[in-house]
Amino acid sequence: MLKDDESILIEGAQKMGINLQKEQIKKFSRYLELLSQWNQKINLTSLKTSREIIIKHFLDSISCIKVISKYIDTEGIRVIDVGTGAGFPGVPIKITCPSISLSLLEARKKKTIFLEKLGEEMNFQQVEVLNGRAEAFGKYPEHREKYDIALSRAVAHLSTLSEYCLPLVRVGGLFVAQKGRSYKEEIDKALKTVRLLGGELIGVENIRIPFINQERYLLVIKKIKDTPSKYPRKEGIPQKRPLYF
Ligand code: SAM
Repeated sequence: MLKDDESILIEGAQKMGINLQKEQIKKFSRYLELLSQWNQKINLTSLKTSREIIIKHFLDSISCIKVISKYIDTEGIRVIDVGTGAGFPGVPIKITCPSISLSLLEARKKKTIFLEKLGEEMNFQQVEVLNGRAEAFGKYPEHREKYDIALSRAVAHLSTLSEYCLPLVRVGGLFVAQKGRSYKEEIDKALKTVRLLGGELIGVENIRIPFINQERYLLVIKKIKDTPSKYPRKEGIPQKRPLYF
């Protein structure tokens, strides 16, 4: 990583109250290299410069850590990143909080091949890559209601996303969605769905990403009761026919 890029990463993290250690900076640097290499073969990100990747992927991903730790002790927790793509936000969070156990769930096989390779190169412990759709994993007994936190960024509207994520979260755990400025409208439309699926909105946190002036919000939803067994519905249905009431 070039010195200027490294400074952006270190300074940006510090602005969010995170002090990155040498080993972690090395990991981000390797991640950047691999992303750039693989992006020439498969479409992993539309961002072109290292600076953009550092700010809009790395810093954006770790921006939720301080907020989440207000709600739950993150030490050793089990986290699933639903629709992780090239590993966002899950991988930067794992680099920053190595004690978490992370499942990276992604529907597209090609992207999961990248994630497998990344895991090997970074020598990650307690990271598993899951290839398939959230609707299927939400039904499997080894994944249903097994996670302390389900996270997701840029995957679907809140109603659809709740049907992907809430079945995976244990009662007492959290579903955390990273959203842009349409968050209010999404909440209005999806609040009843969230409740139906066992969730309760307990926080809306405005986040600042260093070096850019874009609105970001974290919707923090607590799982307060079991998700009814008929959810999630069949693959594709939550997106085609979102549960709006
Ligand atoms: N979360 C990443 C990010 O913020 O850069 C990727 C965002 S990308 C726009 C959405 C990703 O979600 C795609 O890689 C897509 O294959 C995946 N995806 C969409 N629906 C999914 C589902 N039902 N189950 C698993 N993955 C899904």
